[in-house]
Amino acid sequence: MTRLWNEPADFADEMVAGFVAANERYVRRVTGGVVRSTVSPAGQVAVVVGGGSGHYPAFGGLVGQGLAHGAAMGNLFASPSAQQVYAVAKAADNGGGVFFCYGNYAGDVLNFDAAQERLRGEGIACETVTVTDDVVSASAEEKHRRRGIAGDLAVFRIAAAAAEAGYDLAEVARVARLANERTRSFGVAFTGCTLPGAEAPLFTVPEGRMAVGLGIHGEPGIDETGIPTADGLAELLVGRLLDEVPGGVTAAGARVVPILNGLGSLKYEEMFVVYRRIAQLLTDAGLEIIDPHVGEYCTSFDMAGTSLTLFWPDGADQNSELSDLWDTPVDTPAYRRGSVATAARADTSARTSLSARASSAPADATLEDVPPADEASRAIATTVLAAVQTIAETVDTHADELGRIDAIAGDGDHGIGMQRGSHAALAAARVAVDAGAGAGTTLAWAADAWSDKAGGTSGALWGVILNAIAAKLGDQGRPEATTVAAGVAAASRGVIDFGKAEVGDKTMVDALVPFSSTLAHAVDGGADLATAWRTAADAATRAATATSDLLPRMGRARTHGEHALGTPDPGAHSLALIATAVGELLTTEKEKADA
Ligand code: ADP
Ligand code: MG
Repeated sequence: MTRLWNEPADFADEMVAGFVAANERYVRRVTGGVVRSTVSPAGQVAVVVGGGSGHYPAFGGLVGQGLAHGAAMGNLFASPSAQQVYAVAKAADNGGGVFFCYGNYAGDVLNFDAAQERLRGEGIACETVTVTDDVVSASAEEKHRRRGIAGDLAVFRIAAAAAEAGYDLAEVARVARLANERTRSFGVAFTGCTLPGAEAPLFTVPEGRMAVGLGIHGEPGIDETGIPTADGLAELLVGRLLDEVPGGVTAAGARVVPILNGLGSLKYEEMFVVYRRIAQLLTDAGLEIIDPHVGEYCTSFDMAGTSLTLFWPDGADQNSELSDLWDTPVDTPAYRRGSVATAARADTSARTSLSARASSAPADATLEDVPPADEASRAIATTVLAAVQTIAETVDTHADELGRIDAIAGDGDHGIGMQRGSHAALAAARVAVDAGAGAGTTLAWAADAWSDKAGGTSGALWGVILNAIAAKLGDQGRPEATTVAAGVAAASRGVIDFGKAEVGDKTMVDALVPFSSTLAHAVDGGADLATAWRTAADAATRAATATSDLLPRMGRARTHGEHALGTPDPGAHSLALIATAVGELLTTEKEKADA
């Protein structure tokens, strides 16, 4: 368990503050994470990594000379928001473009891709390679769908070494892709992990048992067995990885980098006993071990478990490019290899304005900060504020339930993620209304604050939903019911465009699409907004309930589809709860207005 915290909600932020205070030689804090505190050559490709927090040394601990230039650090187990990724990348950029590299998780992909689009729009070249090393998370034929675990380190190192060697952006991406092809991992766990302040672990492994193939956010394993001996575990790990030697590599005589990774509370001594047998097995298989790693490289809070990664630098052509790159010295807070020529400390005085910049809604906005709005739209803005408050209250009431549902096949963070997002949205909407903003601006500020503070998949998607509706509301006049319905339709299209899920994939799209079409139909039939909204919310509720029968095909839950049968999709369920509560609010407001 995690024993020490102040306010659980402040944990990630305070952790970053302390990490930076302890490592100023390597890193400095910027909005959304950290970048190197040392000077990088002008024109060097900037390698930006990232993901949720709780995986130290991933990701901030891997920023420094010879490794990452920056790390976007999301909340605990939640992907960083697009705004965070963007801000870190801007601060890390040396004029040679940005190379994004991170583990393949739906929430991270959505948010990093959104940041990448924004940077490209500003003329900053970007490339991305997601790490897909975990062999249990999809079949070899579908390697692109696999998630990333401790193999991140191998791919990050190759990409960063290439950047250090002066490769251009396309070439950095090429070798990173190759390194990812040549990296495979397999893990087990003996206990779950508990987030700060949580009453129960995210998942549990029965006493004396071992979960096989468990994810680093507590995504369920594929199997459970008795705990083997240390040698027995070594045989299991090596056996599975030698079953799937990367294409183009001939095992006999090949060189291999083994990385035995501790997940948080496994003793180094235990890992050394396991590694002793791993080294024997690899040698017996005719492999040449180079640069073995035994330690913690990607943890999962206080989870007791371990994973083995095998990185195969040489392909059939015996080209030594990757092994040469592997020799590049590295000096970061948590990881050192060889000796680097120490770079000068960066002069950060000119750059602090970026780190000091708040998210889109200033903490104390005034009339000058908001676009002009008329009286009617300002009146609607108070209804928007009331609606956002209703959303936050509804999420609070159901947070535990949403977390529980998400833990069945996902990672258990849907409740806390929605709380973070909706409360940030509420604070931003309040600032907007106090500053005299119209309905559109109020909702747009709420949208940006939601996606920025929530992170994760649902945070990004709720940002899309609220922004789409905000764009239709505008800051002038009282919107018609048809305008609101058009906003919801745009939101529905936006979520599908952005997340690429379709109806039937067991996501929030399953509730949003019928909500939108029922609303449009009722409004077109002449119903007032409150009545139409309630009818639509009922349709969303039925559709969300019906997701219990579906197998997930998107997001984190995809890997563990069968666990999710019989449970509704958390994102669809929360959307239906929110739609219902907002429907009640609109009815009350209408009754007040009619009276
Ligand atoms: P994360 O998956 O990052 O942990 P949350 O737990 O907050 O984020 O949200 C999970 C929900 O997000 C899912 O239940 C699903 O409704 C929704 N979701 C996941 N991926 C997609 C997608 N590609 N398109 C639409 N909705 C998605
Ligand atoms: Mg989740």
